[in-house]
Amino acid sequence: MSSPVIKLEGISHRYKQKNAPSLVIPAWQVESQQQVFLHGDSGSGKSTLLNLLSGVLTPTEGSIEVLGENLTKMSSAQRDQFRAQNIGVVFQTFNLIPYLSVLENIQLAVYFASKSQHQVIERAEHLLSNLHLDLNILKKPVSQLSIGQQQRVAIVRALINEPELLLVDEPTSALDASARDAFLNVLINTSKTNNTSMIFVSHDKAIEHYFSQSVEITALTEQQGV
Ligand code: ADP
Ligand code: MG
Repeated sequence: MSSPVIKLEGISHRYKQKNAPSLVIPAWQVESQQQVFLHGDSGSGKSTLLNLLSGVLTPTEGSIEVLGENLTKMSSAQRDQFRAQNIGVVFQTFNLIPYLSVLENIQLAVYFASKSQHQVIERAEHLLSNLHLDLNILKKPVSQLSIGQQQRVAIVRALINEPELLLVDEPTSALDASARDAFLNVLINTSKTNNTSMIFVSHDKAIEHYFSQSVEITALTEQQGV
């Protein structure tokens, strides 16, 4: 029996400068190889939850297991290493370095030193073409890319280490509908082909049908006594 990809118990997260917790989740579990659409209003705690799952933030209370490992028992350095090795993260703002080329941005994320330069480029090219990006984009500085291209480069970077879990925070700057549909199709297909589980955060219910599961964040925060 495969263990869940995510298992939360008794989670509460309070930001330092706040009096009350910004996120409380009594319990939540995600089974492997699901593509989960996590939606909710602005300010409902979606980004906070993704940052807890990637180990960027630690909860004030409760335990977080990701891929069978307890993040809340790790040091911050161990969480960083675990993230680099196992989790692909696409931040709302992409966090690409604008003056570096696409390839340099991707290379910075490469975790396994055992991978040769050649293997990295081969995988990057494979992912880029899956995402319908021209290969000559690798040499371009990120600052010359459109938002849609940056979003796809951020996905390539997140997938370069073949992570078991992909966490995507939807960018606020909207793509037009047809570009977004193409992007979502490719993202879901890539995640299925690579057997990657995915949590995709958005406030936009119109894209719910792309995913194998849909969860409203209030459904997680409101459940009692589980
Ligand atoms: P969402 O991603 O759903 O829009 P967030 O997780 O960003 O929601 O925010 C949830 C709540 O936590 C909000 O009330 C927000 O003001 C608060 N919050 C988010 N980030 C911080 C932070 N760095 N410091 C203090 N409060 C924060
Ligand atoms: Mg957010």
